[in-house]
Amino acid sequence: MVQKELTAHIKINSERCKGCGLCVWVCPQKSIAIDKISNNMGYFPACTDDVGCTGCAMCALICPEAAIEVYRDNTTQTDTASVTSTSGKDNA
Ligand code: SF4
Ligand code: SF4
Repeated sequence: MVQKELTAHIKINSERCKGCGLCVWVCPQKSIAIDKISNNMGYFPACTDDVGCTGCAMCALICPEAAIEVYRDNTTQTDTASVTSTSGKDNA
């Protein structure tokens, strides 16, 4: 459960992504889109500008390729185990 003001972003491994679009569909903030440039495998990968991302991790949980990592500021309190907390540094 989120209890404090959120600062969050995601990191998408574009070479692992197969462009299925599940993360685009599931994101409640509409923070993810499909890129217009294909990756080396010929797939059009997901991309994001992180605008509006709350760190809910639904995109990471639904991704069948495990291509998404979610990063949150340490000031947030969450229940989701698949999230990496940071000290506000941008790990991208
Ligand atoms: S963590 Fe949540 S809000 Fe952020 S991009 Fe993923 S689904 Fe959207
Ligand atoms: S759910 Fe995963 S594989 Fe599908 S588009 Fe999103 S990042 Fe790519």
